[in-house]
Amino acid sequence: MKRIIYIPFDHLHRNYGVLKDADSTQDVIALVESARMITGRDWHKERLFFLISSARHFAQSLKEEGFTVEYVKAPTTIDGLEIIAKKHQQLPITCAEPSSFTQYQALQDHGLSFIDNDFFLTPRKLFIQWASEQKTYLMENFYRKQRTRLNILMQGKDPVGGSWNFDKENRLPPPKEYEGPKYLEHKRDAIDEAVAQELDHTPTTTWATTREGALSQLKNFIENHFANFGPLEDAMTTQNWALHHSLLSPYLNNGLLHPSEVIHAAMKAFNSGAIPIESAEGFIRQIIGWREYVNGMYWFLGPDYRNNNQLKATTPLLPLFTNPEKTQMNCMKQTITDINNRAWVHHIPRLMLLSNLALITGTSPQEFLDWMREVFIDATEWVMVPNVIGMGVHADGGAMMTKLYAAGGAYISRMSNYCKPCVYNPKLRTGESACPFTTLYWDFLDRHKETFAKNHRMSQQVFGLKRLSDLSELKERAQEVLEGLSEGLI
Ligand code: SF4
Repeated sequence: MKRIIYIPFDHLHRNYGVLKDADSTQDVIALVESARMITGRDWHKERLFFLISSARHFAQSLKEEGFTVEYVKAPTTIDGLEIIAKKHQQLPITCAEPSSFTQYQALQDHGLSFIDNDFFLTPRKLFIQWASEQKTYLMENFYRKQRTRLNILMQGKDPVGGSWNFDKENRLPPPKEYEGPKYLEHKRDAIDEAVAQELDHTPTTTWATTREGALSQLKNFIENHFANFGPLEDAMTTQNWALHHSLLSPYLNNGLLHPSEVIHAAMKAFNSGAIPIESAEGFIRQIIGWREYVNGMYWFLGPDYRNNNQLKATTPLLPLFTNPEKTQMNCMKQTITDINNRAWVHHIPRLMLLSNLALITGTSPQEFLDWMREVFIDATEWVMVPNVIGMGVHADGGAMMTKLYAAGGAYISRMSNYCKPCVYNPKLRTGESACPFTTLYWDFLDRHKETFAKNHRMSQQVFGLKRLSDLSELKERAQEVLEGLSEGLI
């Protein structure tokens, strides 16, 4: 039967979703570039460029294969689908399950039929079954189950290398002088240029917008970075913006790469003996563990989860998040500048700088979540909601994880080269040169001490408050810091 196959901009893979059994002689392919998607929010232009250009390249590749492809611009996705259906005798429209609650509802209300979303390694139903059987949703438990179920890095029933996790080896600070291999640059073509012009944006050469480019990024990671990925995965340095991170999340999240392809390439390299276990395990955990867990939790926790604000945090988004000139904190200035430049920083600045600052300043979780959604190249709804609400700012009161990622300047100083040239001193918690992270960390613990005392993973840190002889002075400084940050002066 003839049908319209709707391809959302994050299902761009020929062999998955409805396309895997599509018929180029019968099926009509529909892609919609909605005005709401482009102008609805203050999206980073590099992100829009990447998503739109990738979709247009993908549409082009399907046309070259012989498909009838309708790529339309419309006010909304539904408007676009109506235009396409009208042109094609109101054929039924089908799609792989979309990746957010909002889109799912809108498409369902419009009468689309869905097939299972297979852009992940774990079917949604299987994850929900796992989660329903848990008392706490420990990622580590899910990850071990994934290793066994998928038979990855296993020797019979035991983990390869005798341990499930090699994080102890993977916490090195950045080396003093570190250039590392060159970054892979992606050439721009006529489609890229047209998109860039429409967006009035000069794109970087950092992100590929084609399947071939995404595959060359995967090859580049495996050959030049994978072996060193683990030990430096938490390090931050101004000398090298990517270190040995794979830079594959944008392609995994828009469909240009499937996780099974990435795992296949990683395991092939590991089995050849070229990759130390700490790098192999650390990377594979991100793909088969963390990424799958976060997507599963998004669907398990439900559409209202994003509105949580258990710590009653109401500070408006600080001006430094949108303008690096509004802070003197070197770590934040550098990180926001990096984001402005290429819509990406790795997981530690996201967690231990951006989210940590939002957490300890009591920033509104929803304002912070919206900002994170807008600025990162790989920020899909399913990624950001659990990562920010559950992990980053603990707005769910520990429903997803009990651990809090709050830290003072000592951690940042140990894991980066940001602090030496900074006007603030990570060791000080009071006085004008005190590091805002250090001051606010203790102030945050004190503000929530009753709540955190009941949390076994926080009780030791809360106990540390008792050792502070200068707590009242610190709390005065914390007020000055919060005001200074709100005014863009600190
Ligand atoms: Fe950031 Fe504090 Fe270090 Fe300055 S001293 S770079 S504010 S952690």
